[in-house]
Amino acid sequence: MPELPEVEVTRLSFAARIAGARVQILRMGKPLRWPLGVDPQTLRGRQVQSVQRRGKYLLLMLDEGLLLLHLGMSGSLNFSPSQPEPGPHDHMDLVTDRGVLRLHDPRRFGAVVWAPSEASPQAHKLLGHLGVEPLDGGFDALAFHAALRQRRAPIKPVLLAGDIVVGVGNIYASEALYMAGIRPTLRAHKLSRPRADRLHAAIVEVLARAVRQGGSTLRDFVSAEGKTGYFQLEAAVYGRAGLPCRACSTPIRSLVQGQRSTFYCPTCQKH
Ligand SMILES: [Zn+2]
Repeated sequence: MPELPEVEVTRLSFAARIAGARVQILRMGKPLRWPLGVDPQTLRGRQVQSVQRRGKYLLLMLDEGLLLLHLGMSGSLNFSPSQPEPGPHDHMDLVTDRGVLRLHDPRRFGAVVWAPSEASPQAHKLLGHLGVEPLDGGFDALAFHAALRQRRAPIKPVLLAGDIVVGVGNIYASEALYMAGIRPTLRAHKLSRPRADRLHAAIVEVLARAVRQGGSTLRDFVSAEGKTGYFQLEAAVYGRAGLPCRACSTPIRSLVQGQRSTFYCPTCQKH
């Protein structure tokens, strides 16, 4: 599943190239997770102003309205001056005068939704519940600690829920907790301020590093320029059950929390 760094890498791969492009036609394929919400014909002639990101949504800002794009479980976006004929898993072509933005999504959990503005009910329905962005200045260590103090659930599922800080998916939550030396089962409200500070810094570091490295995947994420992500090769704990901890050589353990696999070092990560 594409996580926040993959979505950010995707954004960086085409945002500059598509800015200023005029929409010629929007062609939709098979139904995606939600309907587009507008007649595609009405987008003809609209100009793409920028590509923003909110959580795992990409916001294609137009001179009137915006398109919200989500990669779902298996989606990828590719912007290219020309594209081959759409295949059976290509479900959106946004044809512009600078190239074609194509959504390839075999499982069709992705989405392309039009909204008249970011403040509209259509956009709010998808974006309104999202927590703060971990990679911009709004992610504050003090506020993070205060929010954790309100939660009695274990820290890992609290991070995954996305309403305190958005986009910390399964891989990055495991990695950040390892980096901060915190056991994933520790209840969120028990984190001291210094440990919450370390976790805050670890979340920023692990996500920023993944973006720098081009995103990650356990399957076959490929950015819109065709580069495969490789963060997984450097994972400290994720996917390494039974292998020695890189710091202390204790075998990494795994457990299931909220139906998601969690990996941790029983020596380096404390309750
Ligand atoms: Zn260890």
